[in-house]
Amino acid sequence: MQQISPLWLDPETHLARRQPDHPILYFAPQVLHQTAKRFMAGFDGLVTYAVKANPHPAVLSNLVAAGLNAFDVASPGEMAAVRAASPDAVLHYNNPMRSEAEIAAGIAYDVTSWSVDELSELEKLDAVPRDREIAVRFALPVGGAAYDFGSKFGAAPQEAIALLQQVAAEGWTPALCFHPGTQCEDAAAWVEYIHAAKRIIDEAGVPVARLNVGGGFAANRDGIAPDLEAVFTAIRAATAAAFGRDAPQLICEPGRAMVSEAFTLAARIKGLRRDGEVVFLNDGIYGGLVDIRDMGLPGRVAVVSAQGEHRCAPVRPRVIFGPTCDSLDRLPDGLALPTDSQMGDYVLFPGLGAYSSAMSTQFNGYGLSDVATVIELSGQARH
Ligand SMILES: *Cc1c(COP(=O)(O)O)cnc(C)c1O
Repeated sequence: MQQISPLWLDPETHLARRQPDHPILYFAPQVLHQTAKRFMAGFDGLVTYAVKANPHPAVLSNLVAAGLNAFDVASPGEMAAVRAASPDAVLHYNNPMRSEAEIAAGIAYDVTSWSVDELSELEKLDAVPRDREIAVRFALPVGGAAYDFGSKFGAAPQEAIALLQQVAAEGWTPALCFHPGTQCEDAAAWVEYIHAAKRIIDEAGVPVARLNVGGGFAANRDGIAPDLEAVFTAIRAATAAAFGRDAPQLICEPGRAMVSEAFTLAARIKGLRRDGEVVFLNDGIYGGLVDIRDMGLPGRVAVVSAQGEHRCAPVRPRVIFGPTCDSLDRLPDGLALPTDSQMGDYVLFPGLGAYSSAMSTQFNGYGLSDVATVIELSGQARH
């Protein structure tokens, strides 16, 4: 009989029972289901999931179970992962730079929509069946995101016009797409992009049935839950204002905002130095904490003893090192941890479902790969 892994009550219960000596991600499927429902109920269009944020099979299969069956994929490896979770899933291949072998794989995987941002890349897509959609990706110099995606991909509006005309002339179904940048906390970025999309479509003289407004939806970073519904409303209002009755169908592709809250990372305190001023954890920037290096300090961190009890003394700032022998393996801003934290305790980092295990390396024999499933992530603080 197939093995079914146990479902734990919460991270604290698992830590107290197992006292794991490697970092662990705690996954609460219920939280993922709630977030998927929130997107599907609030976003006025097709909700897809950007697989790169967290390609774990349990994430993909739970999204399918929640009713989401379209995915933004960037590579044949991600296509295989999605097909394993859902044989009839819709694939949007939105990495605009592809090798010839990757293009052949995309055709074999039956990709529905392809993005493109360069004429030379469009020419490479000649074997893509003409009943498929090709979405021209454009980029604007707008702010609002934690870091800018437009510096790597996206045609300038003038090039996008020519590309859109070429896509239509070649007989594919033309569409437009953009990505405002990850952890975008300002809905104004989407508004600006949507109005620019309307200008591109008008100047190209090419009717467009679908507009993909990308990912970039913010996750909870400072302990303040982002107002996703306000962003959905701004997107809907901007689309209505720009296009009126001819509004294209909208698509979104959240990665970070879809998965981040469904996981909490637990890293163990291996040792303390200089009277506790310096703390060594068993995970760091080469493992599941890499996103902290890029995105800044998480607002919510707890310390739990090996018996599962929360440390509640006042906090003090610490230097935090990861487990490898590389001196760069350090959290840039450190962390404030309770003064009664001890060797063998666990630091819990909520909201680390995105860009954590997906980006973890095995450098120096460390890394984050273990996932335990829990009913709830915010266990009772037990003193
Ligand atoms: C990374 C990526 C996403 C997801 O971005 P998030 O900031 O995680 O929401 C969506 N679409 C494309 C094309 C991407 O490259």
